[in-house]
Amino acid sequence: MSRFLHPQYAGLEAYTPGEQPRDRQYIKLNTNESPYPPAPAVLAALTEQDLADLRLYSDPEGTALRAKLTELYGVEPGQVFLSNGSDDILNFTFMAFGADGAVFPALTYSFYPVFANLHGVAYETVPLREDFTLDVAGMQGKGKLTVFPNPNAPTGIALPLDQVEAIVAANPDHVVVVDEAYVDFGADSAVPLLQKYENLLVVMTYSKSRSMAGARLGFALGSRTLIQDLEKLKYSTNPYNVNRLTLKLGQAAVDSDGYFREKAREIMATREKTAQALRALGFTLPDSQANFLFVTHPKVAGETLYRKCKEKGVLIRHFSDPAIAAYNRVTIGTPAEMEAFLAVVQTILKEEGA
Ligand code: PMP
Repeated sequence: MSRFLHPQYAGLEAYTPGEQPRDRQYIKLNTNESPYPPAPAVLAALTEQDLADLRLYSDPEGTALRAKLTELYGVEPGQVFLSNGSDDILNFTFMAFGADGAVFPALTYSFYPVFANLHGVAYETVPLREDFTLDVAGMQGKGKLTVFPNPNAPTGIALPLDQVEAIVAANPDHVVVVDEAYVDFGADSAVPLLQKYENLLVVMTYSKSRSMAGARLGFALGSRTLIQDLEKLKYSTNPYNVNRLTLKLGQAAVDSDGYFREKAREIMATREKTAQALRALGFTLPDSQANFLFVTHPKVAGETLYRKCKEKGVLIRHFSDPAIAAYNRVTIGTPAEMEAFLAVVQTILKEEGA
């Protein structure tokens, strides 16, 4: 730390992204990326003219892409906000709507407390139930910005829509953010509730089901006034935060919407097969509606499984939080990658005498 840093940030503990190692070729099951490339239309979307046009700023309103998303999700113009990945939107959300503090589950996406601390938003956390499901009653009526992913991370457990609605309805004077990063892998989206609740913001990303994590594109759907608030903050930081190439690729992805939905179904089928195989090997794991599994084995420590998998060329995610030290989060890859992972796991179980 230099002596020039604003004291406000001196104690800030930054988010730790999953490893992106370059030392060797791993089977990469640690950051919930898609194992499949984006739709063929996305791969073919960019022309030499697009590259030449990089001399020009991007459209700060993302007009063409917003129009497509408006149609796709059946919302009104003015109800879509675009940004540089959904992390960017979550950041704006804590900045914009956290005046009375924030509440989120105790076990969830570990970026939420970082955003809260960054913006001086006091937060409380609500413990999950014993079975890792969200404590809906505990999240209701807090009188604060309320944030949760559906499905939750890193558990993969989804909340039924009526329970999502119960949380939104119980916080009418504060924004409720439903982070739907993983919604396309089997959960119900809260988008239909937007007609009824002006305090609801649904945050989505191109990073997971649409296979475009590297393009950095996220969007939020909400009432016009909520979107205007987010726009105000975006235009006060970086109006061009979605670049020209990404805007174009984002449109091509909407045009081939069926492609990624089919890939999501493949990932869900691979997930179910992998879950079954892991259970047969003695692992315990909640039913996941996401593109990852949250797994523990009674005879192998979480850290050991992580380390030994890495030694054998498979990266999975282990978290430092002592409450979940026994667990690992495993992203669903291709069927071949999951077979390779399961073979490595079997070897480790033998080595550990499990
Ligand atoms: N929300 C959740 C729950 C996530 O796991 C992630 C991925 N790390 C994000 C949001 C952010 O994704 P992105 O910024 O790539 O859109």
